[in-house]
Amino acid sequence: MSETSPRLRAELDAIPAYKPGRNAESGEGGGPVVYKLSSNENPYPPLPGVMEKAVAAAGSFNRYPDYGCDALMREIAERFGVPVDHVATGVGSVGLSQQLVTATVTPGDEVLYAWRSFEGYPVVTTVGGGTSVMVPLTPEEKHDLDAMADAITDRTRLIFVCNPNNPTGTVVTRADLERFLDRVPSDILVVIDEAYVEFVRDPETPNGIDLYRDRPNVCVLRTFSKAYGLAGLRVGFAIAHPPVAAALRKTAVPFGVNQLAQDAAVASLRSEDELLGRVGSLVTERARVLEALRGQGWTVPDTQANFVWLRLGDRTADFAAACEQAGVIVRPYPGEGVRVTIGETEANDIFLKTAEAFHKEL
Ligand SMILES: *Cc1c(COP(=O)(O)O)cnc(C)c1O
Repeated sequence: MSETSPRLRAELDAIPAYKPGRNAESGEGGGPVVYKLSSNENPYPPLPGVMEKAVAAAGSFNRYPDYGCDALMREIAERFGVPVDHVATGVGSVGLSQQLVTATVTPGDEVLYAWRSFEGYPVVTTVGGGTSVMVPLTPEEKHDLDAMADAITDRTRLIFVCNPNNPTGTVVTRADLERFLDRVPSDILVVIDEAYVEFVRDPETPNGIDLYRDRPNVCVLRTFSKAYGLAGLRVGFAIAHPPVAAALRKTAVPFGVNQLAQDAAVASLRSEDELLGRVGSLVTERARVLEALRGQGWTVPDTQANFVWLRLGDRTADFAAACEQAGVIVRPYPGEGVRVTIGETEANDIFLKTAEAFHKEL
């Protein structure tokens, strides 16, 4: 028998091992309470009514879930005013991003997106055999849509526009996005990733669902992970015209969205008033954090998401270490900056106090 290892695709070597936001520790054993502000999660616990549905579904987990996610698909279609054949569900919107690459990319085709943006894009692109074309953000930490349009080639198959952008929180305006969409050839699929759309308060920011209706090459991604607080259940959805939505259903992992997730997502849409009230509180807290940071002397881009971005450059690792020392875990992007989720008031206060002390030392 030969000693060679199985032949794996060389491209996989280029994929960085996924670095999840570190988990919080409970403070058991006398250690300090540690808050996790590193994964843009919702700090509120599940709503009792939603939890009840998930727990009830757990009683049948010897069975496969509903293959077609029928009840959830219908609920989404009704809530967002779209036909049900314009909807596709997935294992989080990351799962849908991967399906989009599978559905559009053949080896060597290009996937275009801003950088820095969501860390999932390079991973799903490479896994899918595509080539990433990354267009730098502007100095204001925003998408450079003109440069992105200029970067389109005859190999471009898929474009991600992350709005608001993770990790900078910045948004593109309706006028700019429409102008961009007008420049993109109609055979290239444009994905508007709206993982944080529920946190947007800026009236100039478009709602992707308005934009997709008369544009067959636009697909909107939404998730239950952030505003709806179901990150651990892994469910998201896409809204697109029937050929794209059908392609997403074909490329899904069979039975990927489990029944707990399906039932909890339906219950969440039916409890939207309460959930969006919580989002409102986080938006208020976001304004407080932003104002405090600017008062301390920090330059912080306007954020429409549930996090703030501090471009710390070389001091990124030191800042993250100082936060951890103080009891909050933030997300460092080595050499670039840190992203800090808006969390519980106590957690935000610890972060602000740490930021204040750190800025005085600069
Ligand atoms: C969090 C996030 C997602 C994915 O969330 P899922 O949990 O996979 O639904 C997608 N896009 C962006 C930009 C995100 O920040």
